[in-house]
Amino acid sequence: MEVAQRIKNLPPYLFAEIEEKVNRARAEGKEIIDLGIGDPDLPTPSFIVERLCEEARRPENHRYPSYRGLTAFREAVASWYRKRFGVNLDPEREVVSLIGSKEGIAHLPWCLVNPGDLVLASDPGYPVYKIGTMLAGGIPLELPLLAENDFLPDLHSFPDSVWEKVKVVFLNYPNNPTASVAPVSFFQEIVELARRFDFVIAHDLAYSEISYDGYRAPSILEVEGAREVAVEFHSLSKTFNMTGWRIGFAVGNEKVIEALGRVKTNIDSGIFNAIQWAGVEALNRVDEVLTHIISVYTERRNLVVETFSSLGFDITPPQATFYLWIPVPSRFTSLEFTNYLLDKSQVVVTPGTGFGKYGEGFIRISLTTPSSVLEKAMMRIKKSGIGEQR
Ligand SMILES: *Cc1c(COP(=O)(O)O)cnc(C)c1O
Repeated sequence: MEVAQRIKNLPPYLFAEIEEKVNRARAEGKEIIDLGIGDPDLPTPSFIVERLCEEARRPENHRYPSYRGLTAFREAVASWYRKRFGVNLDPEREVVSLIGSKEGIAHLPWCLVNPGDLVLASDPGYPVYKIGTMLAGGIPLELPLLAENDFLPDLHSFPDSVWEKVKVVFLNYPNNPTASVAPVSFFQEIVELARRFDFVIAHDLAYSEISYDGYRAPSILEVEGAREVAVEFHSLSKTFNMTGWRIGFAVGNEKVIEALGRVKTNIDSGIFNAIQWAGVEALNRVDEVLTHIISVYTERRNLVVETFSSLGFDITPPQATFYLWIPVPSRFTSLEFTNYLLDKSQVVVTPGTGFGKYGEGFIRISLTTPSSVLEKAMMRIKKSGIGEQR
């Protein structure tokens, strides 16, 4: 038996070597602290869990859901967008529910990309942009996010001849992994380009609510004319500590939303209705959960920033996301520094190159570990000797 070419073409798993080392260390009885994965340790707020339990008991929720999502869920999304971003959406035509936003992101290229079409994806970036493109037969092209440009892509670095061939551009602000944010003026610029060259902007807004010091992330749909060219992906995963529930949504351009829905009717059959009702409860009560979550992440962010600053690293506290994107000392590659931290401190971080070649020179630390464990990890890193060796 041989797997298909499209699977063989997928990039190799970059963390295999690290995973093997971690497993070996654990087998030797070493206590490894994993700061690599972005998956909230805090529980889903209890009122959301309770709504799920209630709805799970109703037989009418046991049947096939609608692939587009319950009307009530799509209305809750539209109502939240109006309150949060001042953006009016038609819940009938401009909102579709997703089994987590990753599902929609992976399926989007199926709707828009013909074999050989170009798709621009942020690098470093969430791997699904590129992989979804490849599975659809498209050709992914890196959109470099560089420190010297505040991790915003340089839109002038591509000639018109490239823009003419581009079908989709994947963007993500607040950004994973760089923790950078984008001003509305940047969105205006790319919307203008998209209208000129007729491509779709797919903006991943998974981290809109995870922000600090009063910063509020904008939606690309706030820009005039954006809904002619843009869709935005959103998720309850990060805002409500609901990664395991698998619920998200896409909003924006109605043609794209319709096409995504059409792919979904043919592949999946939507999200368990009880989970959608819990999602309605969550979206209607966002304000009740964020204060606590943000205060926990703020404290953790400050701890990691203080630790690395005290060791001589050049690091500014990010305004959003629960990640820190830390430049590695110049004598290391990101993979070497990841190995160094694992060997000296038994702490796992993600090498920047795991998110693309432009991630070289950085590691990503995630703040989704219980604070006491994170403190222990920072103590160990302080003692690793890295401060003296720079
Ligand atoms: C976590 C994350 C998501 C959310 O994925 P879900 O499938 O909704 O859980 C989307 N985009 C990025 C960049 C993420 O980091």
